[in-house]
Amino acid sequence: MRARTAVRANYGMGVHSAKSEKIPCHTRPVPSLSCIVRIFFWFLVFAFLACEGAHAQWNVVMHAGRRYVSIEDVAAFYRMGTPVSDAKIFAFSGQGRTVRGQAGGRDIYINNVKYVLCFAIVSEGGRHLISAMDVTKIIEPVMRPGKIKNAAEVRTVVLDAGHGGHDSGATGSLCVEKIMALDVVQRAKRMLQESGYTVRLTRNDDTFIPLEQRSAFANKFLNAIFISVHFNKSNTSGGTGIETFALAPRGVPSMDEENLSYSDFKQHPGHARDPENTALATAMHSSMLRHLRMYDRGIKRARFAVIRNLTIPGVLLEGGFVNNPTDSRQIASLAFREAFARAIAEGVGRYRNSVVGQMQSFVPTAVVSATDPTSAPIIKKEEETPSSPKKVEITPVGEKTPLEPSVSHATDSLLTPSSTSQPSSP
Ligand SMILES: [Zn+2]
Repeated sequence: MRARTAVRANYGMGVHSAKSEKIPCHTRPVPSLSCIVRIFFWFLVFAFLACEGAHAQWNVVMHAGRRYVSIEDVAAFYRMGTPVSDAKIFAFSGQGRTVRGQAGGRDIYINNVKYVLCFAIVSEGGRHLISAMDVTKIIEPVMRPGKIKNAAEVRTVVLDAGHGGHDSGATGSLCVEKIMALDVVQRAKRMLQESGYTVRLTRNDDTFIPLEQRSAFANKFLNAIFISVHFNKSNTSGGTGIETFALAPRGVPSMDEENLSYSDFKQHPGHARDPENTALATAMHSSMLRHLRMYDRGIKRARFAVIRNLTIPGVLLEGGFVNNPTDSRQIASLAFREAFARAIAEGVGRYRNSVVGQMQSFVPTAVVSATDPTSAPIIKKEEETPSSPKKVEITPVGEKTPLEPSVSHATDSLLTPSSTSQPSSP
């Protein structure tokens, strides 16, 4: 779609000038080496543009009042192989990536990293269709982060430890969210500073900071990104794994909802950063998968108060469930939290590299790290006790929330249209 224009603009066809040449190439009896190189260069440029143009054909299909394109068009546009599919599933690969999904589902896997789509895959007329919104808001920033317009080179990282003070967040028998989150953030701060970043913390102690103050604080910084660190809790002890939230784009359902509501069309400041948010979520989530080796709950969309008012790119990370026996043992270990911090620091670097173009458009991007067979988990087999929760009064695991187990406390952050003045916490 708009990508064809972007490609042409980036190539700057008038840049390669021949003004320094006294004799035009074509008048020479024998072409010089530089002439041959120049001809070859332009051959490659025109071949690429012709190829790009050929692949930029989108056949839009309207379904239930929404624009969709076929997975064949997606594969062709990104110069990947012809999709292999049956009535239910599909997959295609090329350019160092694999994409797979299932008709009727909202999950799509890009290099084995799970993304929860805005709308379900549709199967119609023997073809699998993906919404144009998902191509624009998810596929494109993941495939070509280097083409995100106006993406700033990151110099400052604003780290946000969730909750604080009277707001403990999720509590389990081994962990209290506000304490674990602050510990991870402080470790990540040290690592990022060692890498040359300026790091700002929304809180550096056990203080309660209202959500709107956190985003307002982050918005003061230029060339910055915002990373909010949380831990999860479910109704039962069954919830497990990590998930990353980016702001739900305008006009798409939030969280796991199937249907649109009025609030889904509200414009938020963070929507100006939709592409960066997706690229940042990709870099952070794939880095978490690599370092933490937890169950992948995927990259999801939500309108949490702490991210929707950001004017800089931002994500919210959920690093496991404090009331799951396995997850909580990990979270309580120093080694895990050190690995979490390492994942954040590494994810920041991957995001920075991807948007400033150090990774080219058609080479594997940040998502590759999640499936890198050479990457070993950094977590050591240590049974350390948590650094501070022993002094904290642990409240019993709450069973009062009626929310879907996987996202119980995170869902509390969603605001209804009539409650915009009363932000709740993730
Ligand atoms: Zn939280």
